[in-house]
Amino acid sequence: MSKEENIREIESVCTYCGVGCDITGVVKNNKIIKIFAQKDGLVSQGKLCIKGKYGYDFVDAEDRIREPRVKKSFLYKNSHIMEKVKDDLVEFNKDYFTCSIDIATTIASIKFQEIKDKYGRKSFCAIGGARTSCESAYTFQKFCRETMESPHVDNCARVCHSPSLKGMRATIGEGAATNPYNDIYETEYMVVIGSNTMEAHPIIANRMLDMAKKENNLAVIDVRETKLAKYAKQNCIIPYESNLLILNMMAFVIIDEELYDESFLSNRTKGFDEFKEKILNDKYANPDFFKDVDGYEYLAKQIPNIAREYAVKKSMIFWGLGITEHLDGSYAVMAMTHLAMMTGNIGKTGAGLMPLRGQNNVQGACDMGCLPYYLPDYQEPKEIGLMTPQLINGMIDGDIKALLNMGEDITHIHPNINKTEKAIKNLEFIMVQELFMTDIAQYADIIIGVKSAYEKTGVYVNAMRRLHLSQPLVESDLPDDWEVLAMMDKKLGGDFDFESSEDVWNEVRKVAPQRFSGANYYRLERHRKRGMQWPIYHEDTPVLHLLDFRTDDGLGKFVYHQYQLRGMVKEILDKRFYNNSLNGYYLTTGRTLAHYNNSAQTKRSEKLLTKYEKDIVLAPIEDKDKLGDYIILKTEYGETNILPVKYTDKIKPKTLFSTFHHSSSRINAIFGDEADELIFTARFKSLKVNIILADTQIGCS
Ligand code: SF4
Repeated sequence: MSKEENIREIESVCTYCGVGCDITGVVKNNKIIKIFAQKDGLVSQGKLCIKGKYGYDFVDAEDRIREPRVKKSFLYKNSHIMEKVKDDLVEFNKDYFTCSIDIATTIASIKFQEIKDKYGRKSFCAIGGARTSCESAYTFQKFCRETMESPHVDNCARVCHSPSLKGMRATIGEGAATNPYNDIYETEYMVVIGSNTMEAHPIIANRMLDMAKKENNLAVIDVRETKLAKYAKQNCIIPYESNLLILNMMAFVIIDEELYDESFLSNRTKGFDEFKEKILNDKYANPDFFKDVDGYEYLAKQIPNIAREYAVKKSMIFWGLGITEHLDGSYAVMAMTHLAMMTGNIGKTGAGLMPLRGQNNVQGACDMGCLPYYLPDYQEPKEIGLMTPQLINGMIDGDIKALLNMGEDITHIHPNINKTEKAIKNLEFIMVQELFMTDIAQYADIIIGVKSAYEKTGVYVNAMRRLHLSQPLVESDLPDDWEVLAMMDKKLGGDFDFESSEDVWNEVRKVAPQRFSGANYYRLERHRKRGMQWPIYHEDTPVLHLLDFRTDDGLGKFVYHQYQLRGMVKEILDKRFYNNSLNGYYLTTGRTLAHYNNSAQTKRSEKLLTKYEKDIVLAPIEDKDKLGDYIILKTEYGETNILPVKYTDKIKPKTLFSTFHHSSSRINAIFGDEADELIFTARFKSLKVNIILADTQIGCS
């Protein structure tokens, strides 16, 4: 308690990115007036980025959904439901009625039941985000699987790290970061690939910078020069869509120069000999290949240098969506686990594999079973459901009729939004649980406002498997996501027996014992500052795979996959890439420091919004006269609105970068269905686009 009686300091966890920084909220009269990090914060190390520090205005924003909204047009179409509830409805505005949560969930339950009876259980699907707690994520998949008896539950990992889960589970049996962030201080060499760490995971980048400045031990591999590259010993700019090519080349060098760890390979892995033979005979795996790739010839030397240093030192690899959001994202993840296994750079302090998760609880949402092919604890379900892109097709085909959406703005942050909009319009019923009237909420028949992370108790799992029991900074009368779901379950004849988030969590500990049995609220509360890393039994587990991999036989596996020549690399080799045309640029997308997901929270904070009010395209400096100040990007799937252009020497010729923060920019309209071939994660990080010149900013968002 502070000197002023009505000012309190409450410890919790940041609601934004997967770094999961510990925060302290300063609260006066039930209003957050400041957020800071304690000096001894284990994750934050006393520092927060701009989002953590200033991004709390959304909690009190005037346009929070404070009361349920039911679309009038929906009730007019469903007059039998209208008849039942008409005395409980209150005029909200020209489009919506409002009512109590009890009535809203009654309406939703009646409609969900009708759809299930008429079209069958599999006509229902549930697509959730990863901003809510584990308790809500767990209840979400339980509602879908048990109450509605549909296998179709998915979460936003579909558009981010599903390939990390797939690739890591196929090789080492566990799809999660192997080490704590502080192992950055124990490692001798860091490879960061496909991650704009300084902007997307800034508090992890702080640690990297500390060490890179001191030890000169950082390699950054990316399609453009990110801010982190300034501190890199090896700043390695690669062509678009060439991650797997580069990673297989690193394996080639390590094998060719016999830099692998024979004892680790024979004791801890299987299948290396076969892998070795395939890599040595792979026509794309020799780095000399780049001698013929115009503009990228330096890679023929740079890749072997990185591979050598990685192999002979205690090393870690970090990656982001620049790896996963590709046709071969899962295979690229496998290629990284190969490197770690070949060199023994896994299963010890200071060596490992670190997928950098985007949203605050994306690890937790997957751990809770919000995936069509995994139950909680990654157990296999009896029936496997459809992934989001398949569900979108199902909506268009008329097989999927009802959508329950919990905080996932699928008509903004998913690809091919023209198609997604068409699919959504084909649904008979949509219910959304949200903080704001996001893009998808505009389509919903019922919208129920729920507590934000700063208003509730719940467990969040960050990018290093660390559980943080969050406590509310402020009080709110709104329901938690899981409470809405439990109400609906009861009305649909279910038996969810939860009175508190702790009740939900205690069930999670029973059904997901391999990771969470020892993580009761009492212990999580006691260790709130330090946090605990799963699996948690009597102790927690900072480093995974110390003795065995988490595969059936405990051995790591090699899953060779050859790079397929295509896209930009092929065009360069065919001498078709470099020309003066406005067509044929390669685009990648990403965040800036003040951005987070669909901007629902960030744009309610003036300090964040004023920084990046508009989406922006970064283009090569030599194109300044050619492209001008404003452009439209176009593909066969659609076009963006007019976007402002900024020029930089950090972007290679005929390539572009753009943010996608604001739905009105319609960046995701230009992406089609191309996706990771194993797991359907959209290919957001490489798209061939044409440019339309726009000499005005009219239409800019
Ligand atoms: S790095 Fe991520 S978790 Fe930490 S303060 Fe920034 S947004 Fe929050």
